[in-house]
Amino acid sequence: MGVINYLKTLFSACKSLLTGLMTTMKVFFRKKTTEEYPENRATLKISERFRGVLTMPVVDGKVKCIGCGICQNACPNGTITVITRSEVNPETGKPKKVLDRYMYDHGSCTYCQLCVNACPYDAITFTNEFEDAVFDRKKLVLQLNPTTEPAPTVEPENK
Ligand code: SF4
Ligand code: SF4
Repeated sequence: MGVINYLKTLFSACKSLLTGLMTTMKVFFRKKTTEEYPENRATLKISERFRGVLTMPVVDGKVKCIGCGICQNACPNGTITVITRSEVNPETGKPKKVLDRYMYDHGSCTYCQLCVNACPYDAITFTNEFEDAVFDRKKLVLQLNPTTEPAPTVEPENK
């Protein structure tokens, strides 16, 4: 009885060893999937769904953002600061609120996309850009709406 048990255990151990070896050999010979970054930068494909940097697309020279601030309120991290100013509407002669600066602190964004989902005008979206390293944290504070005026006024938190 002892010899039979011994042989059963030996057979089971050999079977298990062979199964492991077969898996190793399969992986060894299949097509390599490791990406050699940055050497492959020219051919690197990032998923469309990857959330890299928040951006505000410009269509026909205009952004869709009206400065309502819904995205700012939706953001759990205080990453977005919407600064508005008042302008006189040339059609009605009445003052109206317009977007002045749309500030985004990339350093505090957790890419949850709550801001994008909350925007009723589809004015913001994520690009799949991922090379964002900078030496100065202040450079992570980006103004998303185009402007010719200088200097963001919002400091990053947790310097
Ligand atoms: S991005 Fe959208 S939600 Fe945010 S302020 Fe502009 S229009 Fe409002
Ligand atoms: S993705 Fe999330 S954390 Fe980043 S700005 Fe939008 S709401 Fe804030």
